[in-house]
Amino acid sequence: MNLTVDHLSVSFSTVNIVKDVSLKVRNKQFVGLIGPNGCGKSTLLKSIYKVIKPRQGDVFLSELDVMKSSPKVVAQKLGVVGQFNELSFDFTVREMVAMGRTPHKGMLETDNQEDQSIVSGALRRVNLEGHADRSYNSLSGGEKQRVILARVLAQQPEFMILDEPTNHLDIKFQLQILNIVKKLDIGILAALHDLTLAAEYCDYLYVMKDGQVAASGKPEDILTKELIGQVFDVSCETYRNPVTGGLGIAYLETR
Ligand code: ADP
Ligand code: MG
Repeated sequence: MNLTVDHLSVSFSTVNIVKDVSLKVRNKQFVGLIGPNGCGKSTLLKSIYKVIKPRQGDVFLSELDVMKSSPKVVAQKLGVVGQFNELSFDFTVREMVAMGRTPHKGMLETDNQEDQSIVSGALRRVNLEGHADRSYNSLSGGEKQRVILARVLAQQPEFMILDEPTNHLDIKFQLQILNIVKKLDIGILAALHDLTLAAEYCDYLYVMKDGQVAASGKPEDILTKELIGQVFDVSCETYRNPVTGGLGIAYLETR
């Protein structure tokens, strides 16, 4: 399933936050969205997953017109791992993950054996099978994030949006989450704050600044010291990391 965002603009009262953004994620492509804090990444992603209504523009998941479709129909295709995952009511970890099955169920349909085994499988994938009966609110930020990922895995989406999914995680779980997501082999659009991880995992990047797409391309083509300097307002040198063969970035003092 592919994603097409066409001339999307979002405003809050009179302030334009996302300005005429167009982007494309092809089937099975892992696409990263990078840019400084406040440039509009989360706002763009929220308008794609229907939490915010854009002022203008279109969003398509393959042939599905997201703006004109019900949340349930979109949720059968699209999984979302958002940035903040606090709950006012408490649920167990298993209950949280089981919610991922909801878009596929009728109104009064209860979970069957297949749902339960999908839920157990998702918990195993994120190494939380031992926490199934714990209360969600009692978990650490990183564990919560893995529960949310498990819920999305249980949803079996055909496309996934992630908003800085590794924010609360130590490096082992950052890599675990990115590896799990990459192996799904579906289209992914992910806002990522770590540029070297973005370069490592993404097939293609969109760079946002002030609500606009400032650059796009393959990580190795666009993540130059000039672009990083201009977009993030830091000076740095880039190099080929001798261990990974991938992009290395050495940050010098901020200008
Ligand atoms: P990013 O995810 O790139 O850090 P955001 O999309 O969260 O950026 O925010 C972009 C800008 O939009 C920020 O200046 C933020 O304060 C503003 N903003 C976000 N949500 C709202 C809102 N609901 N009302 C007004 N301004 C908002
Ligand atoms: Mg954000």
